[in-house]
Amino acid sequence: MTEPAASPTPDQMPAYVSQIPRRGAVAAFFAPVAGFGVSLGNMFKPMVTEEYPREPANVKPRFHGRHQLNRYPDGLEKCIGCELCAWACPADAIYVEAADNTPEEQYSPGERYGRVYQVNYLRCILCGMCTEACPTRALTMTNDFELAGPTRAGLIWEKQDLLVGLSPGMVAPPHPMVEGTKDTHYYCGEVDEATQAQREWVRQNRPDDPSLDATPKGLAAAVPVGATRARQQKITAAARREGGAR
Ligand code: SF4
Ligand code: SF4
Repeated sequence: MTEPAASPTPDQMPAYVSQIPRRGAVAAFFAPVAGFGVSLGNMFKPMVTEEYPREPANVKPRFHGRHQLNRYPDGLEKCIGCELCAWACPADAIYVEAADNTPEEQYSPGERYGRVYQVNYLRCILCGMCTEACPTRALTMTNDFELAGPTRAGLIWEKQDLLVGLSPGMVAPPHPMVEGTKDTHYYCGEVDEATQAQREWVRQNRPDDPSLDATPKGLAAAVPVGATRARQQKITAAARREGGAR
């Protein structure tokens, strides 16, 4: 059996040679005050003062704010209740309960829809992993960061708070899918707007539905926001009026 090689002593080790380039004489002379260069450079730039909360803050376009549940162009919901978002969430902030679509109550293309959808903003760290996991792009994030609230329960946003309103051309679900289509047609973006047959179905089953007043590709239907979201908006508006921080 051979003996293991002995470790070199400090005297036998090669001398340390720094890989950092050495400064020139001028750079070395100004080194002690080099940090002031940043301050001096900014002294001559125009001042930018954010007037938030008196004026809305400008966030970057890709800022991760609160979530939004999206719809297809005919008004059906994109969420299929698969729970992938909930499983992907590192903070366990999402709760989903799915239910079966039926001919009388069809909320999304395919077999299932998200009957219960909650995001707990006391836990959410706005990382966006849930949106990456969503197979139908049902879940995206907005730029809205005003998520403070007076109660803990109010920070658990429900489906009606997160679901986007109806755009022109949409009719509120439940209603059947576009005639002759399967869920894959929806996923491939082959549905443009609610058809006359879908409108007729809603007219027969819910004659008072306000979304029927919207003409195809015409007026947007006025859909009330969810109770939690409405309460939050009221609180934010009051804080803006008073000019105080919440
Ligand atoms: S943004 Fe992150 S923390 Fe918030 S619900 Fe989605 S996955 Fe969870
Ligand atoms: S939001 Fe997307 S990932 Fe979450 S349950 Fe709905 S379809 Fe599935």
